[in-house]
Amino acid sequence: MAGSIDAIRNAILAGAPGEELAALDLPETVTAAFVRKDEQDMFEGLESSTKDPRKSLHVDEVDLPPLGPNECLVAVMASAINFNTVWTSTFEPLSTFLFLERYGQESDLGARHDLDYHIVGSDASGVVLRTGPGVTRWKVGDEVTVHCNYVDMEAPEGHNDSMIDPNQRIWGFESNFGGMSEIAMVKANQLMPKPTHMTWEEAACLGLVSSTSYRMLVGSHGANMKQGDVVLIWGATGGLGGFACQYVLNGGGVPIGVVSSKEKAEILNATGVEHVIDRKADAYEFWSEGKQNAKEQRRFGKRVRELAGEDPDIVFEHPGRSTFGTSVFVTKKGGTIVTCASTSGYMHEYDNRYLWMHLKKIIGSHFANYKEAWEANRLAYLGKIHPILSETYPLTEVGEAAYQVHQNLHRGKIGIRVLAPEDGLGVANPELRARHIDSMRVFRKFSD
Ligand code: NDP
Repeated sequence: MAGSIDAIRNAILAGAPGEELAALDLPETVTAAFVRKDEQDMFEGLESSTKDPRKSLHVDEVDLPPLGPNECLVAVMASAINFNTVWTSTFEPLSTFLFLERYGQESDLGARHDLDYHIVGSDASGVVLRTGPGVTRWKVGDEVTVHCNYVDMEAPEGHNDSMIDPNQRIWGFESNFGGMSEIAMVKANQLMPKPTHMTWEEAACLGLVSSTSYRMLVGSHGANMKQGDVVLIWGATGGLGGFACQYVLNGGGVPIGVVSSKEKAEILNATGVEHVIDRKADAYEFWSEGKQNAKEQRRFGKRVRELAGEDPDIVFEHPGRSTFGTSVFVTKKGGTIVTCASTSGYMHEYDNRYLWMHLKKIIGSHFANYKEAWEANRLAYLGKIHPILSETYPLTEVGEAAYQVHQNLHRGKIGIRVLAPEDGLGVANPELRARHIDSMRVFRKFSD
C-alpha cells in the first residue's frame, strides 16, 4: 500500500524512532525539483547571464526510484543551492542529460538514472528511511548529512583516492535523484552524521562546499596549508569562500578575502577576516581589450602586500578566466594556486614566466573523497566550522533561489526547506549549540 509523505514528515518532526519510520509505507511518488530533457535547448543562443533557472527548474511529482544494493533512501529535511544547480538549470557548459545517458549505458543500476527529467541537488540533511542490501553502517532513523561523491569503488584506480576513480560522479549533477526531493536516493558511502547542534538547513550546507574547501586547503591532496600561511581567497563570502576563510582561520593562517561589496566586506570582518579587498570599490580591470592588464595585476598585488605584509603562500581559485592570470602573478615565490572551477570561463591565460621562474605550483582539485568529507563534517560537528547561511527558500521556490546564486545576489549559502516546514528545526543538542554559539564568530553573526 502506498504511504503518505506527510505521515513520514510528521513522524520525523515528532522524533519517531527508526522502528516506527521503518513501519511506515513509502509513497509511490514524491515532490522534487528537476530540469526536463525536452527543454535542454531552451536557452540556446542566449547570453549566459540571461539564462533563467526560474524557467527551467520545475517542481512536481516524480516516481520514487527503486532502491539498489548499498543504497539508502533519505527523507530530505533540507537541501542547499550549489553553483552546479545553476549549471544544470542553464544547461551550461553542457546539458547534464549527457551525464545521465552515459551513466545509463554503464549498468542496469545506472540505467535507472537515464530519465527524461533530472532531479537536481548535491546537498541534503535528513533521516534514513530505507537501506538497500549490503548496507551495514547505517540504519533507518539515523539523522544524516549527505556528501556528493558518488562512487562504487569497484575500480582499482580509486583506492588511494576515490576522486580518481574512473566511475566517480557528483551526485545530483552527474547522477539523477539528487537532494531537491522529498525522498532522495544516495549511496551508503555518502552518509555522514548530522551535527547535533545544527538545524536541518544549516546541516544541509555542509556537504559540497565545505568538503571541497577542506580538500583544497587542508587535505593532503590540496595546498596543504600550514600555520601562518597567507591565503588569498576569491569570492570570500561565497559558498566555497565562506568555508575557506574559516579553514584558514582555524588552521592558524592569515586569510585575505576578496569580495565585491561593502556589505560583504563587513560580513568578512564580523566573521574574523581582518584583511579584505573590495574588488568593485577598487575597480580592478584585470582584462582590457581582450588582454590581461599587467599594470592592474601589479596594483592588486601591491594591495595584497600592503594588507598582509607579504605575498600569498596560497591562492584559493575558482572564478577562473577573469582572475587566474592575477592569481598566478600574485602568488608568493614557491607558492600554490589551488583551483576547483572556472565560473567566468575555463580557457585560462597566465604569464608562465611567473610560474616557472618563481617555482609556483598549480593544483587542480575537485570535490573531496569520503575521508576528506568526513573530516570536514567532523570539524562542523565539533563547532569549529559553521555555514554562512543567509537565506532559505521552500522547495517550490528553488528556481528563484538558483537565480539569486546565478546573478551573484546571495551571500554564503542559500538553504532549501524540503520536508522541514520552517527554519530552526532539527537541533538535537541545544546545550551544545549554546556552547558553540558562544565561541563562534560566524554563529554570532548569522544564526540567532
Ligand atoms: P558562489 O556563487 O557562492 O561564490 C562565488 C563567488 O566568487 C561570488 O560570490 C563572487 O564573489 C566571486 N566571483 C564570481 N565571479 C567572479 C569574478 N569574475 N571575479 C572575481 N570573483 C568572482 O559559488 P561557489 O563558491 O559555491 O562556487 C564557485 C565556483 O566553484 C562555481 O563555478 C562552482 O561550480 C565551483 N565549484 C566546484 C567544485 C568542485 O568540486 N570542483 C565544488 C564547489 C563549487 P564577489 O562578487 O563577492 O567577489
